[in-house]
Amino acid sequence: MLEEKVAIITGGTRGIGYETVKIFLENKAKVILFGSKEETVTESINKLKELGLTAKGYHPNLTDYKEVETTVKEIINEYGKIDILINNAGISANKKIEDTTTEDFKKIMDINVLGIFNMIKAVTPYMKKQQNGVILNTSSMVSIYGQPSGVGYPASKFAVNGLTKSLARELAPYNIRVNAVAPGIINTDMVSSLPKEMIEPLIKTIPLGRIGTPTDIANAFLFLSSNLASYITGVILSVDGCARS
Ligand code: NAD
Repeated sequence: MLEEKVAIITGGTRGIGYETVKIFLENKAKVILFGSKEETVTESINKLKELGLTAKGYHPNLTDYKEVETTVKEIINEYGKIDILINNAGISANKKIEDTTTEDFKKIMDINVLGIFNMIKAVTPYMKKQQNGVILNTSSMVSIYGQPSGVGYPASKFAVNGLTKSLARELAPYNIRVNAVAPGIINTDMVSSLPKEMIEPLIKTIPLGRIGTPTDIANAFLFLSSNLASYITGVILSVDGCARS
């Protein structure tokens, strides 16, 4: 579905991002994965190699625009274009407001919002010149319902939605589509380490009767990146089994 497409996927070393890298490679995209550390980037590239898949990797500090810009330039020099950008890197929070410091709040906004802004700002000039591009952001179910603690996380994901809907309108004249996927509870490391007693009651609240898999989300990214979604922009696509909390 993505033959000859060049895709950057941030947070590509594990969880949802790694699965998206894998599925994009299987669909013949050329994938450049970003991670936070050189070791984890190398580890992921080697894991993909064992599956017969080849990806390139970088680990720029997403909160530093200059670093991001330089990395994007290097990618352009090597591949000549960027068709797809998936902003998936993110961190979460769960402390009550009285225990959340200003620094905690700033950190989550820096990675989850400023990081996305920097990536989009860096790739947009090239996509505009190409007169085509797809930008996808990882939002969350909490961007619709909020959550009962860790206010920085839902605040950052509401911001991701705002960024998505606004840039969809700003960039549409250049044939650049901007959408987000809002996952529900997904079985990544974070969730699989939770005790059964905590997970089972949660599953009971999900109408489809199960938590999601990284593949469920990667498939949504695949669809939205492909030409099948050529008239879809400015959408926050919930992929959550109809969970409502
Ligand atoms: P994960 O913790 O398994 O992976 C997070 C990825 O982000 C990693 O590849 C990591 O390298 C990268 N990352 C983290 N901090 C970074 C930093 N400072 N700089 C650069 N990269 C950094 O998490 P996941 O569950 O796969 O989450 C991926 C995305 O999905 C996140 O944006 C998260 O908010 C969102 N999400 C996850 C769930 C869920 O239930 N797992 C639900 C809704 C939304």
